[in-house]
Amino acid sequence: MTAVVGAQWGDEGKGKITDLLAQEADVVIRYQGGNNAGHTVVNQHGTFKLHLVPSGIFNPNALCIVGPGTVVNLQVLCEELANLERSGIRTDNLRVADRAHLLMPWHVAIDRLDERERGRQKLGTTGQGVGPAYADKVSRHGIQVYEVRDERRFRQRVAHELERQKKVLERFGDAPLDATAVADEVLRAATTLGDRIVDTLPLVERALKTDARILLEGQLGAMRDLDWGIYPYVTSSNPLAGGAAVGAGIPPRYITKVIGVVKAYSTAVGEGPFPTEMAGSEGDALRERANEYGATTGRPRRVGWFDAVAARHAHRLNAFTELAVTKLDVLGAYREIPFCVGYEVDGALTTDMPPTAVLERAVPRYEKLAGWCDPLTGVVDRAHLPDAARAYLMRVEATVGAPIGMVGIGPERSATLL
Ligand code: GDP
Repeated sequence: MTAVVGAQWGDEGKGKITDLLAQEADVVIRYQGGNNAGHTVVNQHGTFKLHLVPSGIFNPNALCIVGPGTVVNLQVLCEELANLERSGIRTDNLRVADRAHLLMPWHVAIDRLDERERGRQKLGTTGQGVGPAYADKVSRHGIQVYEVRDERRFRQRVAHELERQKKVLERFGDAPLDATAVADEVLRAATTLGDRIVDTLPLVERALKTDARILLEGQLGAMRDLDWGIYPYVTSSNPLAGGAAVGAGIPPRYITKVIGVVKAYSTAVGEGPFPTEMAGSEGDALRERANEYGATTGRPRRVGWFDAVAARHAHRLNAFTELAVTKLDVLGAYREIPFCVGYEVDGALTTDMPPTAVLERAVPRYEKLAGWCDPLTGVVDRAHLPDAARAYLMRVEATVGAPIGMVGIGPERSATLL
């Protein structure tokens, strides 16, 4: 069983890697997060930005599970499925865990209001309500997906929760939501999904018993992990492989492979420290060349050089069996490439990841690696990469401490060197 985990700030290209591996998978499970994700997949069917649907959906033989560790906006999920179906993709192989938590319309409202109230300390969320949905889950106010099955009780639950949330919405001067309309909307989506809402544990157990090939798909990356990322600029769940076990309902000892996905440089969406960030026109140029705009929000992504401290931090927490390095082609534009091997903090050099407020004042220590000035178009074998590109990859392996198993040199599924 393989977990595909982001090893940076998110947007590493997990969608592409999962889509590629999913061709050989029997089950693909999204284990955390919600529709704040934007996993871009480019394959023979077209270009897709998947928000909740696992990136295995293009393999009609793979069972795709929106896992119990996710928070699910059923209405958004139905829209996403309808979009896929319009492109001729079958979605009857999708299942939604009935223990997942519902992301309700008030979570979306509270996400935006909370960001507004934080003002200059805003987190830079995608505004999809994911944080507030997890907050309700943890504070034991959440509504689980299975609850839609008992309509009368579900309507009472919605009315009760809305009464509680009303005080928050009022404090922000927001209009109250109508309980009947909210319940109607969610129940309609639940009816559309019908018997695709299931207890996923027996499915997973059966898959384990028959040695099915299972792929676990994470969202965001280690630097945004609730426990090990740059708190509070983190997501409200655990993208780490450890989170995959709980979030997918898999006993941890079954996870035998953990693939850490890293870009050959760094990007981040939202706020928080990002030591290797490129300022000004240098950053603008890379952003344009690499089309670094958020898949969910369209926001320009912050861009920076490769940060081996961050990737090593992710490796220490995930013990990657291999790395998938994406977007190596993008670095083909540089004669010389800065590569961060440590941080200077208060006069001392460190390769450990400091806590957030200390990281804010960390100064990256760079090595300058030779560029290869080649877009890598048409390369089909790692052995045929330019020497400098191979040396760059070896530096990644040496500083992170994990071997590289895959190298991306273009957005298409086929542009991957194995
Ligand atoms: P995810 O959320 O981790 O799946 O990553 P995103 O989809 O948000 O961002 C990755 C972006 O990089 C997408 O636009 C992909 O199509 C693109 N991409 C992935 N791998 C490569 C690669 O090797 N080269 C290039 N040029 N683009 C890539």
